[in-house]
Amino acid sequence: MKQSNTRNSDYTYSPSTSCVHAGTLRDPISGGVNTPIFPSSAIDYRTKDIRYPRNFNTPNNDAVAKKLATLEGTEKALLLSSGMAAIAIGIMALVKPGEHIVFQKDLYGGTLALIEQELPKRNISYTFVDATKINELKEAIIEHTALIYIETPSNPLLNIIDIKSVTHIAKHCNIKTMIDNTFASPINQNPAQLGCDLIMHSATKYLGGHSDFCAGALAGSSDIIEQCRLLGTMYGCSLNASDLALLERSMKTLAIRVEKQNHNAMEIAHYLQDHPAISTVYFPGLITHPGHIIAKEQMHGFGGMMSFELKNEDKSAISRFLDSLNIIIPAGSLGGVESLITSPALTSHKLIGEHGRQSYGIKDNLLRLSVGIENTEDLINDLSFALKDI
Ligand SMILES: *Cc1c(COP(=O)(O)O)cnc(C)c1O
Repeated sequence: MKQSNTRNSDYTYSPSTSCVHAGTLRDPISGGVNTPIFPSSAIDYRTKDIRYPRNFNTPNNDAVAKKLATLEGTEKALLLSSGMAAIAIGIMALVKPGEHIVFQKDLYGGTLALIEQELPKRNISYTFVDATKINELKEAIIEHTALIYIETPSNPLLNIIDIKSVTHIAKHCNIKTMIDNTFASPINQNPAQLGCDLIMHSATKYLGGHSDFCAGALAGSSDIIEQCRLLGTMYGCSLNASDLALLERSMKTLAIRVEKQNHNAMEIAHYLQDHPAISTVYFPGLITHPGHIIAKEQMHGFGGMMSFELKNEDKSAISRFLDSLNIIIPAGSLGGVESLITSPALTSHKLIGEHGRQSYGIKDNLLRLSVGIENTEDLINDLSFALKDI
């Protein structure tokens, strides 16, 4: 393959090939196989487009954007300084003051904070719904609804929203749809193929994949991404050249990482489901999961995220369990090569209080596991050892 995806534009390569090759701008000076890092902030203005790092039009941004757009099957993509920047810019690009948004109620904590603290200031109204109930979502649509926003699989209970049903309703009502596709990654789910207008990723998670920098991404039609680019330029949310280069390198192994994470998670979910110290496992790959059939239909893999509850509801049981793990690290964030575990009640969902958690079905003894790429048996042995006396 010479310059990836340019030889025959009608032919789409499989995701693992696109991960490695799509978008790469080979170094014309040395003949090197990688995109060079272009850090200049002062660029000759006598060119066709005025280039400037904040304008999202450096070669490093173009290279990663092309890779992501290829993986998501969209016309364009944009890389931003964080997942939250991507969410804020995406919502602002699609919704005007005076309009209304229908939000799924179980969203990432940062998204909930943005909605409740920022949208009212911008005269944007909203309704939260249980988006697993399509009728509830339908009934929340009002005359000036401009956007439906979903996140599937959701955090931390891995609820599955039927993307096709949502986009079908939205299109019928002339409403745009935006999805947080972070948990699935473009390897496991491509919402544009199911009719979604704007896809968002916290690239801090699976796209970056090594828990060592923060970035965000948007993917969609040329029109929508251009609106996002203009807003992102004004608000100054671009990603710097070094992190773009890191992201490009990380994404070359995205498919192989996610395939291993899918495999590990499936094995671990089955192991935990049969373990006497565990009461419930939330993983869309299990046939007992309420969203399993929809997940099977709309995802290419079930992902590396799961949650589970310890039977022993004692607070000390959780600390003993976490203290006994040797490989799996108790830490926030997710999607990296290393397996991480968190207690949503003590981290992501601490601020909403016990009553808030109850309304989402998040118990104090719930643990969320982000499965890494370690050896499957080593991970199961780690869990087995830590669960021994629980
Ligand atoms: C982490 C995360 C975000 C926010 O992304 P940042 O890169 O931390 O700004 C949004 N949505 C989901 C599902 C996430 O996990």
